[in-house]
Amino acid sequence: MNKDNRNSRTFKKHVLLSHSMRILLAKNSKKFFVKDISADFHCQFGFVTSADLKKKPGSTVKTNKGVELKIIEPSFIDLYARIKRGPQIVAPKDIASIIVETGIGKESVVVDAGGGSGALCFYLAHICKKVTTYELREDFTKILEANKKFLGLKNITIKNKDVCDGIAEKAVDIITLDLSEPWKAITEAEKALKPGGFLVSYSPTIPQVADFIQALNKTEFIHIKTKEILERLWECEERKIRPFTHMLAHTGFLTFCRRL
Ligand code: SAH
Repeated sequence: MNKDNRNSRTFKKHVLLSHSMRILLAKNSKKFFVKDISADFHCQFGFVTSADLKKKPGSTVKTNKGVELKIIEPSFIDLYARIKRGPQIVAPKDIASIIVETGIGKESVVVDAGGGSGALCFYLAHICKKVTTYELREDFTKILEANKKFLGLKNITIKNKDVCDGIAEKAVDIITLDLSEPWKAITEAEKALKPGGFLVSYSPTIPQVADFIQALNKTEFIHIKTKEILERLWECEERKIRPFTHMLAHTGFLTFCRRL
C-alpha cells in the first residue's frame, strides 16, 4: 500500500466518523469547530445556519453579519486538538522527536504507558499499525476511551492495568513510558520488545532520568541517549518578525535506547 492510499483511507475514516462535524476557517486565521451541523452555529462573526453548514466542504458561506467563512471537514489534527485532558500530556514537539528517532511507521507495533489523556498514544496510533496503552487509573482510562471514540481510531487497545505487572504484547517495535518511576517498567519492557526494538522514556526531571539510566546500565539495553527539545515560536507581522517573548521553556527529557 503506498503512502497516498494510506492517507486517503485514514482521511475517509475520520470523515465518516466526523460526518456531523465541520471546521470553519476565517480570513483572519480564526478557526471554529462545529460539533454538530444539525444546529445553527454562533461565533464572534454572527451565526451560520444549519442549512449552510450542510453545504459541500470547500464551500464559502456567510454569517448573518456578512462575514465569509470556508467550510472544511475536520482532519485528524483538528480533532486531536480537542481531545479531553486529564493528566499532563506529552507535547507535540516531543512526540515528533519520538517518531523521528525511532523511525516508527505503518508497520510498527507499539506499547505505551501510562496512557493518561492519550496525547502520545493517539498520535502514534494515527501513524502506526497497532498501539496498546496501559493506564493504572480508572478515571483516566475513561478519558482515554472517550478520546478514542471521538478520534475514531480502531487500532488502539486501552488496558486499565499496571504496566509493571506485565506486558502481554510480544515482539513489540517500540515501548513508550511516561511514568513517574519508569525504571520499574524496564524488566517487562525488555521481555516484550523485539531485538533492536526501542524503549523511550519521557520524564520531566533529571533525577528521574538519572535513575532510569542507572537501571538501564544493568540490562542489555544499548544506544542510550537523552535529549531535550526546545521549540521557539516566532511572531511574523509585517516587519515585526521576531521570537515571541514567552515560550514553553520546559516539558520533559526524552531517553531513548534499544534492546540488544
Ligand atoms: N502520555 C500521556 C500522559 C501520561 S501521564 C499523554 O500524552 O497524554 C502519566 C500517566 O501514567 C498517569 O495517567 C498515571 O496514572 C499513569 N501511570 C503511572 N504509573 C503507571 C503504571 N505503573 N502503569 C500504568 N500507568 C501508570
